Amino acid sequence: MTLVNTRLHQAPRRDVACRHFRRVAFSATNGMFFLCSFRCWRSLVNPMDHTVHVRKIIHVDMDAFYASVEQRDNPDLRGKPIAVGGAGARGVLTTASYEARIFGIHSAMPSVTAARKCPDLIFVKPRFEVYREVSQQIREIFAEYTSLIEPLSLDEAYLDVTENLKEMPIATEIALEIRARIKAVTGLNASAGISYNKFLAKMASDLNKPKPSSLQRTDRHS
Ligand SMILES: [Mg+2]
Repeated sequence: MTLVNTRLHQAPRRDVACRHFRRVAFSATNGMFFLCSFRCWRSLVNPMDHTVHVRKIIHVDMDAFYASVEQRDNPDLRGKPIAVGGAGARGVLTTASYEARIFGIHSAMPSVTAARKCPDLIFVKPRFEVYREVSQQIREIFAEYTSLIEPLSLDEAYLDVTENLKEMPIATEIALEIRARIKAVTGLNASAGISYNKFLAKMASDLNKPKPSSLQRTDRHS
């Protein structure tokens, strides 16, 4: 009974919140995506707007991390469909390059299926010690900006930059700087999403990923 009453009591407020959230500010500025309500977006882009106090969360995720490291270290693999993982009958892929993703290949796919979908697929053995090394370099870059880092895996992390070590007021600028630093130090691309919570920041970084549909299949011309 209490629950029903609570729900009835909250219903009008929830409705208002939903209507408010429908006014989602979804904009691409300098290649960065925001995903949040309009009021929070306003305070993220304008630090002088003190009407709403929100946290500033950046989700940074490396693009096709293991495959990109392999393509960086071996020029013969660049521009080719490659998959990192075992090529054997029971092998499973950890990562596929964007050239391979055009063929519908993705991580956690059995190698046999991947080879059937893309006969030219190049299988590369994982080198986890190298990936850990690169991951450490990336984390050192994060640590220059904030001490509030929540790593999710070797290649992605949440950063809370509400009060950051460089005292930069705009989260977009921090994210752009971090991406540029990662590119300069490691030679690899990262995607970043910004929002006022982790869930939406992660969604935003996914939206910012290169899309296989926007890439060209090179084999169509041969
Ligand atoms: Mg990644």
